[in-house]
Amino acid sequence: MAGRPADARAPESAYQSPISPGRSWYEDSVPDRPRYPRLEGDLKTDVLVVGGGFTGLSAATHLAAAGIDVAVVEAARFGDGASGRNGGQMGTGQRLWSSEIAEAYGLERAKALFALAEDAKAHLLEFTAAHGIDVDFRPGQLSVAHKKRYVADYEAQVEDLAVNYDYRRASFMGPAETAERLGSQRYFGGMNDEGTGHLHPLKLLIGTAKVAHAAGARLFEETPILSLTGTGAVLATTATGRIRARRALLATNAHGGGLNDTAARHIMPIRSFIGATEPLAEPQRVLPGEPSVDDSRFSVRYFRKSVDGRLLFGGREAYTSESGDISAHIRRQIAEVYPHLAAVPITHAWGGSVGITMERLPYVREVEPGITAIGGFSGHGVIMANFAGRLYAERLSGNRDRLNLLEDLEISAFPGGKSLRTPLLVLAMTWYALRDRF
Ligand SMILES: Cc1cc2nc3c(=O)[nH]c(=O)nc-3n(C[C@H](O)[C@H](O)[C@H](O)COP(=O)(O)OP(=O)(O)OC[C@H]3O[C@@H](n4cnc5c(N)ncnc54)[C@H](O)[C@@H]3O)c2cc1C
Repeated sequence: MAGRPADARAPESAYQSPISPGRSWYEDSVPDRPRYPRLEGDLKTDVLVVGGGFTGLSAATHLAAAGIDVAVVEAARFGDGASGRNGGQMGTGQRLWSSEIAEAYGLERAKALFALAEDAKAHLLEFTAAHGIDVDFRPGQLSVAHKKRYVADYEAQVEDLAVNYDYRRASFMGPAETAERLGSQRYFGGMNDEGTGHLHPLKLLIGTAKVAHAAGARLFEETPILSLTGTGAVLATTATGRIRARRALLATNAHGGGLNDTAARHIMPIRSFIGATEPLAEPQRVLPGEPSVDDSRFSVRYFRKSVDGRLLFGGREAYTSESGDISAHIRRQIAEVYPHLAAVPITHAWGGSVGITMERLPYVREVEPGITAIGGFSGHGVIMANFAGRLYAERLSGNRDRLNLLEDLEISAFPGGKSLRTPLLVLAMTWYALRDRF
C-alpha cells in the first residue's frame, strides 16, 4: 500500500472535483488542502468508513480518539462532495421546524431532537475551538418570508421555540427590521436567530481530516469503493484490492447510490448551486450585521457574506445531473434581492449534491449486518452530519442512546423505485416551485 507522489498530480489551483460541478470559492480561499494517498492493494481494519465528508471524517476522528482502528476511503478528495461546497449555514434545530416534527412525531420526540441539534451546534463550536480550526465563524441567522402570507408562521415559530423548547435566542422581525438587517426591501418579515451562525465548510472539513489523521485514523483519497457486503465480516473491494473490516459506516450520502440499494431507496440526490461575487464595492449595503439568510421558498434561497466581503448566494436547485449556466441563474436571483448588484461580477459558480429523505430528517440504519448507513440530512448537515459521525463513534464505544434518536425516526423509501423516482420528484418540485411564485 503506497501513495502516489503528490507531484504526479494536477496543481491545486487547477483541481476540479470529479463529482460536483464548478470550482468553488472555498477551494480558492483555503490556505492549504493536504492530499492523502490512494489505497493500493489490500487493507484490514476494525472500522471501514466509506466516504470522506463531514459524516465520515467526524466519525473517524472520534473513533480514532477512542483508540478504535479506523480507515476512511474516499472516492474523490475529502470535501469534493457536499461537505466542502455547501452554504455553511448552521441553523437551529432540525431541517424541519420543531412544530412540524411535533405534529409528525409528538412533542416529546420533537424536544429530544431539538436538544440533540443544540448539542450538535455546541459540539461543532467546541470541536473547532479545541483543535484550533479557524472556520471563519460569524454569528447570526435570518429566516425570512418571501410572501406576506408566511410572516405569521415565523412569528409562531419564535413563540413555539420559546414556549416548548425554552429557546430564547430567536426574535420576530417585522418588515422594517427585516429590510434593515438585509439591506433589501424584498422580504416581508421573519426570524432573527442569534444563537447560531455560519462558517467556511471546506476549512472545517480540512481541519477535521487533519485531526482524524493526527489521532491515528488511516485516510485514503481517490479510491472508489466498488462493492460493499456485510455477511459475516464486512468485505469491500477497490480497483486494486480488498478491504476486510469488522464493521463499516456508509457515509456516501447523495453520492453513494450504487453501493447499497436500501440506502439508495431512502436518500435521494438533488443538486443545489452557489455563486460568489467579487468583493462588494459597498459591503455595508448588504447584510450589514453579517448574518446568514435563508428564505421561505420550498427551493430555499440562502445567502451570506464571506469574510472578504463577497456575497455567496445559493438557491437554484436541479433534480437531474444537468447544471446549465449556474452564474446566469444565480445573478438573476441576486438581482431580485439586491437590484444594485444586477451587474456584479460573479467570480465562482459551483454546485453540489444534497442528500434528501422523504421526511427531510436524517436516515440512520443498519442496512446489512455490520454496515450502518448515515445520510439524508436534507440540507442541514453542517451541524447534523458532523454530529451524527460523532454519535456513530459514541455507539461503537458503548453508548447507543443518542444515535438511537435518529435511528428510531421512521423514514420512508422514495416512491417509484430507482428508475421512476427522479421523474416523480421533478413533478413534485415543479409544483412547489410554482407555489413559491404565486
Ligand atoms: C450546494 C449545497 C449547499 C448546502 N448548504 C447547506 C447549508 O448551508 N447548511 C447545511 O447544514 N447543509 C447544507 N448542505 C448540506 C450539507 O452539505 C450536507 O448535509 C453534508 O455535507 C453531508 O455530509 P456527508 O458527509 O454525509 O456527505 P458528503 O459531504 O456528500 O460526502 C460523501 C462522500 O462520499 C464519497 N463517496 C461516494 N461514493 C463513494 C464510494 N463508492 N467510495 C468511496 N467514497 C464514496 C463522495 O465522494 C463524498 O465525498 C448543502 C449542500 C449543498 C450541496
